[in-house]
Amino acid sequence: MSAREHILPVFVPHFGCPHDCVFCNQRHISGEQIPATAETVRRVILEAGQRTDKHEKLQLAFYGGSFTAIPEEDQLFLLQAAREALDRGAITSIRLSTRPDAINEEILCRLRTYGVETIELGAQSLCDEVLRLSGRGHSAEDVRQASCMIKNAGFHLILQMMTGLPGDTPARSIATAEEIIRLKPDGVRIYPTVIVRDTALYTLWQRNEYREHTVEDAVSLCAQLVPLFEGAGIPVIRIGLNPTEELSAGSAVAGAYHPALGELVRSRILRNEAESLLEGTAPGSRVCLEVPPGKLSQMIGQHRENLRFLQERYALSSLRVKTGSNPGDHEIRFFIEKPVES
Ligand code: SF4
Repeated sequence: MSAREHILPVFVPHFGCPHDCVFCNQRHISGEQIPATAETVRRVILEAGQRTDKHEKLQLAFYGGSFTAIPEEDQLFLLQAAREALDRGAITSIRLSTRPDAINEEILCRLRTYGVETIELGAQSLCDEVLRLSGRGHSAEDVRQASCMIKNAGFHLILQMMTGLPGDTPARSIATAEEIIRLKPDGVRIYPTVIVRDTALYTLWQRNEYREHTVEDAVSLCAQLVPLFEGAGIPVIRIGLNPTEELSAGSAVAGAYHPALGELVRSRILRNEAESLLEGTAPGSRVCLEVPPGKLSQMIGQHRENLRFLQERYALSSLRVKTGSNPGDHEIRFFIEKPVES
């Protein structure tokens, strides 16, 4: 997908999905109550066409449930409406999300016929125990096989993983990330677990049979995962659930729900980098960090949290941050502004 492509989401919530993943109540997560129809697709495209520049690229995205697991007839109505829009140039591409065990050669052939370009797979974990305890109903091997089939068939592949699921640990999440990297997707989304009202996970949590994956747990873990993916050349295109009115109004009762989770993670990554630079700095030093352009507020952190943390951690007498002048620079540098007098 080109960077300038604008996504038009159409949610297909829990529409025909025969599974009951412990964390899922698609209606609360997507904020949609009524399943999408061909008419929804036409309306979304028409409205987008009216409010966007005609040169803007529009990608129709079927998100939410498991697209290729809904009844075939319903898939065809939705795909047909999307294909018509593609053929007349009202949209430039189609993407959809689905389950790893709802992919086979026949399904891929159908998706190709209707012009689908990108398939997102909800892998969630590559640990079978985590998948089992989360009620996913598919195995890690299903993820491997579906990923290979999608790539071999020439689609763009996006893999979604979750952190903090029942039975998960940071080490298991890191192992999942490492295996995802070996599957060579074109991008990754990371969804730290949120406890949504009226889900099996909510009941487990109320009974103290599941320990909440807090925002801090998620930020700390994702700050390790994101550099793994990006170091392997795999873009991380989303961190955390899209905030919706319903989630923010109380459906998200606990867990890693934060409207700016991605920003918190990016900020933590910079803090971690700064920590490794400042290791060994004499207490009482006056330090200046120089960060790449565009990273200043992430380095400072929400409510100056990063600066406070680093200053306390290294007992610095002062810590200031400035933006470097070279736009091509991606490194953080630090300078001792005034050495400690002995
Ligand atoms: S497969 Fe997807 S839609 Fe179905 S229950 Fe699981 S998360 Fe929800």
